[in-house]
Amino acid sequence: MSFWMIAAAVVIGSIVYKMVYGTTCGNVESCRVDDSNATDSKKKKKKVLVVTAHPDDECMFFAPTILGLRKKGIEVNLLCMTTGGYYGKGEERRKELISAAGLLGVGPSHVATLHHSAIQDGPDKMWNPGLLATFIDNYVQNLNINILITFDEYGVSGHTNHMGVFYGVRWQIRGCLMCLDLKAYKLTSTSMLRKYSSILDVPFSYITSNIRFVSGWRHIWTAQRAMFAHWSQFVWYRILYVIFSRYMIINTLERFEEEVMPRTLHVI
Ligand SMILES: [Zn+2]
Repeated sequence: MSFWMIAAAVVIGSIVYKMVYGTTCGNVESCRVDDSNATDSKKKKKKVLVVTAHPDDECMFFAPTILGLRKKGIEVNLLCMTTGGYYGKGEERRKELISAAGLLGVGPSHVATLHHSAIQDGPDKMWNPGLLATFIDNYVQNLNINILITFDEYGVSGHTNHMGVFYGVRWQIRGCLMCLDLKAYKLTSTSMLRKYSSILDVPFSYITSNIRFVSGWRHIWTAQRAMFAHWSQFVWYRILYVIFSRYMIINTLERFEEEVMPRTLHVI
């Protein structure tokens, strides 16, 4: 047996082991904080804020991250920038978000939705990033958040609101002079082929990213149940999404670039 066959067997075996025995994390700092033997000063409690655009984003896209962090005992807060009222079901969707978040291990007191006339749900709605940043900053300061997680520039699906959230978070971290300990991560968007490759994308994600959350079977099942807590959004093709989307199983994250955080430029 060649070296490469042995290496491939080891990698695949390791991945299968992780899938069977539980969620695994890459090297997101928050992911390993509870594992360290650091001194008390270094064991500052990590608090995560996941910023999304619509109720159900937390399940469709961020479930592996949220479940992975909660498994480590890390506090996760959700901030959804709308109630998802595009079809006039805002209040219903807000309640569904509370239920879904509960299944993901995030209690009602850690879930917030905004309802602002200038930040409305809709693919044709452009949001003012400065306004979003004001709200995000408010939560960061009040909850002592030190890790922000959101969409990247493409927002996984290219939805205007997802991209709007990215720019809002970027605006916030650029302008926050008090956030020296704040780290921000964005969820990697992939090609359509990878997006719907389900478990087949796991090896590729291991190769291309070292910041990742991979769910085990139990967490995959939990994410699927949470998806169906958003019952008002049920359409037949959501079943296909649940079956084939890699985002139900794996998240890969990237740090926001340091150059978007030139806080010293904002002193004047
Ligand atoms: Zn969305």
